[in-house]
Amino acid sequence: MSYRIESLLIHGGIDGDGTTGAVNVPVYQTSTYKQDGIGENRGWEYSRTGNPTRAALEKLVADLEHGTYGLAFASGLAAINTVLSLFKAGDKLLVSNNIYGGTFRILDNVFKNFDISYEIVDTSDLQQIEAAITPEVKAIYIESPANPLLTITDIAAVSEIAKKNDKLLIVDNTFLTPYLQRPLDLGADIVIHSGTKYLGGHSDTISGFVVVKDKALSERLYYLQNAIGGVLAPWDSFLMIRGIKTLGVRMDRHVANAQKIAEWLENSGYVEKVYFPGLPSNPGYEIQKKQADAPGAMISFVLKQGYDYRKFVKALKLVTLAESLGGVESLVCHLASMTHAAIPYEIRQKVGIVDELIRLSVGIENVDDLIADLKQAIEASK
Ligand SMILES: *Cc1c(COP(=O)(O)O)cnc(C)c1O
Repeated sequence: MSYRIESLLIHGGIDGDGTTGAVNVPVYQTSTYKQDGIGENRGWEYSRTGNPTRAALEKLVADLEHGTYGLAFASGLAAINTVLSLFKAGDKLLVSNNIYGGTFRILDNVFKNFDISYEIVDTSDLQQIEAAITPEVKAIYIESPANPLLTITDIAAVSEIAKKNDKLLIVDNTFLTPYLQRPLDLGADIVIHSGTKYLGGHSDTISGFVVVKDKALSERLYYLQNAIGGVLAPWDSFLMIRGIKTLGVRMDRHVANAQKIAEWLENSGYVEKVYFPGLPSNPGYEIQKKQADAPGAMISFVLKQGYDYRKFVKALKLVTLAESLGGVESLVCHLASMTHAAIPYEIRQKVGIVDELIRLSVGIENVDDLIADLKQAIEASK
């Protein structure tokens, strides 16, 4: 029987412990495993290669993404590092023009040194993608909604272009999670997550994931996971399983709060621009509605002239100024100096990451308390 996602969140992966009946997967805090003879093991040899707690989590995340194989890593960037290691010198990637700053950094300052290049394109414009495809291009790497301008890319349409040209489509699904969007169903080849964000959901664990459907690709990625070694520890795997159980109820509240706050901001008279794919005024609104179950809970905005964003973030009382997103608590972040500081000033300006841009990760607090806090802080920033 196949279960719907609300049930999979609780019962996906390896359900409990067959030996004792414990309803939770035990934390197998071990680096190695007794072998019964030379070449005779019980399926486990060494915990970089495989660990039962991590394996339960990997199966769970694969099930949620409608994939076949899942891999868990010590961070989102460890997952990205492993995926980028599929490529070799001379290869090139097409990359969404607004992506997570750390993804840009590893492409620009690490993989470029190995002669793996990238080209930034506006992936919401299919013609730009088609025009940029050359024989050197091996993959298209997108985020939708993208970080931080929440730009929407038509995943199914890009997947068609990728398939037609024999390129891989890689989608970072951190902002929506499989609860709201399943890129593999839309034709993507590889899904990446920073599990640090909504999947974990409590701002207490750093983790990352890769999910695929294709067997050959999974074998290559599994080989790289073991060869590179950036695996998730047993205890952190347990925390992720624990966090994922409440993903559905958390996301429902995150999304409802964000929709209300985005509408309030747009009509408040305080903002110059608000970026939220759930507003009909957003250019990605229709595509987002077609490919995802909800627009997520990330909002970026620029205050009107006369309001000082530095004073605004200092005046917030309930909302915290901090890096990261996707936790139960609401966070604001100043993009240019925090998460996207790794992107050079000229590129930031070109793609619209202006110095005044603020990003809000809407938490699951009472929405009227959140709006009241935003309002008093904006008023105080004059
Ligand atoms: C945070 C983030 C990452 C990096 O993940 P870490 O867990 O911080 O290494 C990658 N992509 C997106 C969209 C992110 O928000």
